[in-house]
Amino acid sequence: MRIGFISGRVVAMLALVAMAGGCASDKSVINNAQQSHSQLEPAILNDAALQAYMDKIGTRIVAEAKEMDARGEGPAAHKKGDAAWMFEDVQFHMVGSDTLNAFTTGGHHVYIYSELFTTAKTEDEFAAVCSHEFAHIYCRHVQAGMNRQYGVYATAAAAAVGGAVIGGSDNRLTGAAAGGAAGLAAGQFLGMGFTRGDEDEADKYGFRFYTHAGWNADHFADFFQQMIDKGYDKTPEIASDHPKLANRVKNTERRIDELKKDQPDYKTWQKPDIASATEFRNLQVRAAKLQKAMPQTKQTQAAELMLAAFPSCVAPVDQPSQAKAKDRIARAAKQQ
Ligand SMILES: [Zn+2]
Repeated sequence: MRIGFISGRVVAMLALVAMAGGCASDKSVINNAQQSHSQLEPAILNDAALQAYMDKIGTRIVAEAKEMDARGEGPAAHKKGDAAWMFEDVQFHMVGSDTLNAFTTGGHHVYIYSELFTTAKTEDEFAAVCSHEFAHIYCRHVQAGMNRQYGVYATAAAAAVGGAVIGGSDNRLTGAAAGGAAGLAAGQFLGMGFTRGDEDEADKYGFRFYTHAGWNADHFADFFQQMIDKGYDKTPEIASDHPKLANRVKNTERRIDELKKDQPDYKTWQKPDIASATEFRNLQVRAAKLQKAMPQTKQTQAAELMLAAFPSCVAPVDQPSQAKAKDRIARAAKQQ
């Protein structure tokens, strides 16, 4: 189909631009994230109480990251450019999805999936994942990832698929209103997972934001442990781009030991949770209800499908719902 063809060519051009310029620029990543957002936005759970909670969690994390930036702490990729934009208006969104994941497109948007939120047992577990996501922005992992994927043209293929699915006028899965550039932008992430090194680095800096922001260091790895207990960690690390959850727990324990040694007063950083246990539970119930009641328009279906197909940020390998979503997109693309 014509639209898929054009998408492929546009992406090939983008690929050349990205390769010529080395690492993707902040500006291109921010723009791409903004375009992707117009496709993903229909899946956001619109609820004032939930959004207020997300805003408070995000504000607490970003404020600490900003302090850390002022102290000059961060990997080389963080230090190599002006980082002021990271601390201005990054938005944490709660999206309705039955996939257990969280994801950032690298600019001003972080997406926390409702399934992950309702699975978290405590605010500590939830805040740890949110801090990890913001660390991907802080460490410019998407900038590096886009370049890596462009380099091997894997993303060009994935984006052509995304563009074709979203742009296809006769496609059952999607609507024209959600199409065009937005589909193309979001489609790029289908081919761009974070590396094992990225994930570990995001845990490292996420842990720092989280502890400085006042959550309990001892509970940073609780969510990983919960996932291990649920059987998510059965794949050998060699078969995955992601660190095994057991290693993420172990690395966190090492970081806690270092913290005890280097900052013996770290317990004094602790602040009360934003939501009490009861409030947290009520917000989870709200999110679960809203997710079930999401209107099934073409736009929400397209957003949900794309979110489900995004690479895992927490589990070592794709879950069945993620593999299914990717397969669905691939099949739809073949029909073009
Ligand atoms: Zn991650």
